[in-house]
Amino acid sequence: MIAQVIVDIAAKQTDRIFEYHVPDELQDVEVGSRVFVPFGPRKLQGFVVGLSETSQFQGKLKDLLLVVDEMPPLTPELVQLSADLADHVFSYRISILKTMLPRVMRANYRKILTPLTEKAKQLPLFQGDPVDLNKMTDVKQIALARKLLRHDEAKIEYLVENRAKKKTENEYQLCQSKAEYEKILASVRPNAVNQRHLLQDIIQHYDAYPKRQVELEKEAGVNTATLTAAVKKKWLKKQAVEVYRDPLAGFDEDQPDKKVTLNDEQTAALSKITTAIEEKQDQTFLLEGITGSGKTEVYLHAISKTLAEGRNALMLVPEISLTPQMVRQVKARFGGEVAVLHSGLSEGELYDEWRRIRRGEARVVVGARSAVFAPLDNIGLIVIDEEHESSYKQEDNPRYHARDVAIWRSHYNHCPLVLGSATPSLGSRARAQKGVYELLRLTKRANQKKLPEVKIIDLKHVQFAGGQFDLSVELVDAIKDRLAKKEQVILMLNRRGFANFMLCRECGYVMKCPNCDLSLTMHKDTGMMQCHYCGYTEPIPQRCPQCQSEHIRFLGTGTQKVQEELEELLPGVRILRMDVDTTRRKGSYKKILDAFGNHEADILLGTQMIAKGLDFPNVTLVGVISADTSLWVPDYNSSERTFELLTQVSGRAGRAEKTGEVLIQTYNPDHYAIKLAQSQDYERFYGYEMRVRHAGNYPPYFYTVLISVASKNEQHAAQEAFRIKRRLTRNLHPETIILGPTPSAISRLKNQYYYQILVKYKKEMNLNSLLHQIQYSAQEIKKYGLNVYIDNEPERII
Ligand code: ADP
Ligand code: ZN
Ligand code: ZN
Repeated sequence: MIAQVIVDIAAKQTDRIFEYHVPDELQDVEVGSRVFVPFGPRKLQGFVVGLSETSQFQGKLKDLLLVVDEMPPLTPELVQLSADLADHVFSYRISILKTMLPRVMRANYRKILTPLTEKAKQLPLFQGDPVDLNKMTDVKQIALARKLLRHDEAKIEYLVENRAKKKTENEYQLCQSKAEYEKILASVRPNAVNQRHLLQDIIQHYDAYPKRQVELEKEAGVNTATLTAAVKKKWLKKQAVEVYRDPLAGFDEDQPDKKVTLNDEQTAALSKITTAIEEKQDQTFLLEGITGSGKTEVYLHAISKTLAEGRNALMLVPEISLTPQMVRQVKARFGGEVAVLHSGLSEGELYDEWRRIRRGEARVVVGARSAVFAPLDNIGLIVIDEEHESSYKQEDNPRYHARDVAIWRSHYNHCPLVLGSATPSLGSRARAQKGVYELLRLTKRANQKKLPEVKIIDLKHVQFAGGQFDLSVELVDAIKDRLAKKEQVILMLNRRGFANFMLCRECGYVMKCPNCDLSLTMHKDTGMMQCHYCGYTEPIPQRCPQCQSEHIRFLGTGTQKVQEELEELLPGVRILRMDVDTTRRKGSYKKILDAFGNHEADILLGTQMIAKGLDFPNVTLVGVISADTSLWVPDYNSSERTFELLTQVSGRAGRAEKTGEVLIQTYNPDHYAIKLAQSQDYERFYGYEMRVRHAGNYPPYFYTVLISVASKNEQHAAQEAFRIKRRLTRNLHPETIILGPTPSAISRLKNQYYYQILVKYKKEMNLNSLLHQIQYSAQEIKKYGLNVYIDNEPERII
């Protein structure tokens, strides 16, 4: 047998497939197996993407060295997907294959230095063992290692190292007959109490064995020492068995599954989806339903239907912050069938959940973006909740959109895809308009609650409470009113930290990140100025770093500052803050949300991570501190993002018996995105925004591709960008619009200068192959410190 392998050549990526002979002892290799292969003098990891009987190079092929996993980590479906997706997103297949695996399984080989010559073997460096180069820190030893390599006295070997540790527990098996144990018991000294207890337990519960150590210790009332002694005496046999880490362990005690009867709109939507499930149609549905219209209930019913048909379901949710409540609901309904995949899990948990799916032990998968690659087979339904969310697009290589991958998998599996949102992305809504997707609408709140009253506060004409310019008197009064009624408040400010500008009033100096073209944000709690892009920090200055003047001011605002202001204005108020800074630790999201749900706080103050999906019945007021943060971002979809954010956050108010109110503070009260968010009129916003996009030749009227060139040397980046532009102009249709190259809005990030070209086109036969050529030549120019990135259908163009 011959294996076709994509080899992980880190330095130079290529989609070339290499062939290897499969030796007799590795005949269990499959498509999707992770393998080790000889590659030149090295041993590298790769993935088997095909198997065949013959090859034109037969007899000259090298042998596969190793099949890494017991079960191939990738399914044939995923292997095939990797090829199509690499083509679509201008990435290399190896990046896609690795993206499909849980993080722990991606880079997992170590470099080991082994001595070759007799002289080398005598060196104290080796002390009889190979040396782990990854762990080498001693400068002298590193120099010696280099010398040995140069003189061919040692060589580097790659070792597979599975950093993903399986969790095990001890299990004890019996090794004698019951009668035998009775005989032993009779001969054990009466004062050997523990041994007697153990033997009694064995005789009494003979059929209940093998037993886990924890169980055994509890039930027989013995300790580890007794068990160890019993093993020595050959009464018991000990073995390690694998156990799964359960990321949902804390969820079990949560509320029981609510039973609801679907209303007419929900029933109508569900029946269309059900038909597609039964008939295995790869139809895409757009479920457009206002916040609180009961979309979740429709998903859950559709998943039940899928399971009843004997197929499995995949459900994507945008961000981890949304997951606790959604996961709770899914878990309440489907129990042990559920697996969860998102970056908030520990590596071990992720690895275990992933393997449960791969082994067919979980039938419902809920997860964030990368869960779209879950190795789930026999998929009968895919759901993408909040389909408009930008987090479904990966901003780094491979720049894929989970929606595109889901569509591919729906075709492959012959199953429907349901995209749900209160504010669908313009592209999806336009496709529904054209009939490419089927539009299903939920126009009423499921529990008959009215939408909250939304009021706009014009910050140009208000009195501010306190000495700062963040909180209007009106908003603070409304908060006081709720606190008096023991109701709760959600406040959103899409900016973390304390102040995002240090300005010198003497010389005008603004403190910026030395690596990026961005001002540093003050973080009062840590005493640091921080770059929110690259993480650079330095202490908060007392004087201007440029002119030493003491007249420095910290301008702008952030969640930390607003928290401090509120605590001053409302003494005794209990505030929970939720932003990147308070949610770094695993489990902190759930902790904050649980505490708020238990009314341990009056106000939940946070960035956009609190805008979506949360369902707290006692929240009757939502305040937006500034609607303007997302409005003037220089990007074609800034209005869409603003409308979406305001509508989503408004939906958090008044979800139960009590009616809700929303107050939006803004300096742009007349902007259409804000006005239409006030009336929560998605359809009108859609109509208006589509005209704006049409006039500006923007998506969804045009397809777009963004090409970025980055270099430490600004001139080199610009030159290469112009070269690419000339190449495009020569080969593309005259009606295709090619904009740029221009320095991107933030022209320098992490010490790299960026130049961008935007291609807008309607039909373009040559573009795909041209971009692939550009992608391949990008490999060549990497050595000159130039990086070229191609983003197909970018979510933002800044
Ligand atoms: P969405 O996801 O559309 O914002 P949810 O699915 O969260 O809305 O539903 C909002 C609330 O309405 C939830 O508390 C849910 O339990 C409830 N709900 C959903 N469907 C029904 C129904 N048919 N009858 C009564 N309550 C419902
Ligand atoms: Zn100064
Ligand atoms: Zn920076």
